[in-house]
Amino acid sequence: MSDVEVPESHPRQESLRTRHRIEAGVEKGITSKQGLIAEGRGEAFDYLLGERTIESADDAERAAAAHLLLARHPVVSVNGNVAALVPEAVVELARVVDGDVEVNIFNRTDERMRAIADHLRDHGATEVKGLDGDARIPGLDHGRAAVDADGIADADVVLVPLEDGDRAEALSNAGKTEIVVDLNPLSRSATTAAVPVVDNIVRAVPNIASHARDLADAPRAELEAIVERFDREAALRAAEATIRGGSLDTRARTDGQYTDD
Ligand code: ATP
Ligand code: MG
Repeated sequence: MSDVEVPESHPRQESLRTRHRIEAGVEKGITSKQGLIAEGRGEAFDYLLGERTIESADDAERAAAAHLLLARHPVVSVNGNVAALVPEAVVELARVVDGDVEVNIFNRTDERMRAIADHLRDHGATEVKGLDGDARIPGLDHGRAAVDADGIADADVVLVPLEDGDRAEALSNAGKTEIVVDLNPLSRSATTAAVPVVDNIVRAVPNIASHARDLADAPRAELEAIVERFDREAALRAAEATIRGGSLDTRARTDGQYTDD
């Protein structure tokens, strides 16, 4: 079943499209099998969030944009799920904030690294980092520690959508300002990030890019004020409260009827 075969009327249309893109990613050799499991986990949280960008996530996305614009060297890290789901948005975001795109995967194989880099180039990337792997993040074992010396190793601000908990921790221990996109507000990745974005990457990355375009000409003082005002604890609490408390009654899910916001 391809993208186009999901009927427009299907209540889980967007979610099914996303799932099919992950499947296609696996078939193309850019997404790992574990990526399928991560996707399933993400879907469950997204369902409970109402499959929308909640207000606290939009605030986090604006703060993320401000951080990336203020950075000396911002880098957007890309794994197999990110490459499958939002290749154009990642390339566009890096362009807007004048940063690098670096491939970084949990189970590093040359084949998959190259497949992801090629995929990003097919979606407009001119330079893709990560293939050299000539530096390491301290505190991680071998394959998972490898980064580029002139990429993530040199970055002051990194956007790591869907990073695993260990690496998220190691990156922030290495002194990087870390922006994480993760639908689980309780995950170690979200709780260690300077800016936890609890939103689906299919909405988050384009929205961070859109905030960045909006703020591109803003004075540094304004960007600094946005960064300063952002409260990570409050954002995590708001996301958890939405998931647990749920305002799902706005959508009649049980009878298959779907009223949009
Ligand atoms: P920890 O971070 O505590 O080490 P983990 O939750 O990262 O553990 P994984 O199996 O790697 O363990 O989970 C993948 C994470 O990615 C989940 O938290 C899931 O909610 C999140 N996720 C998956 N798909 C998406 C997506 N499209 N957008 C945002 N987050 C996603
Ligand atoms: Mg995680």
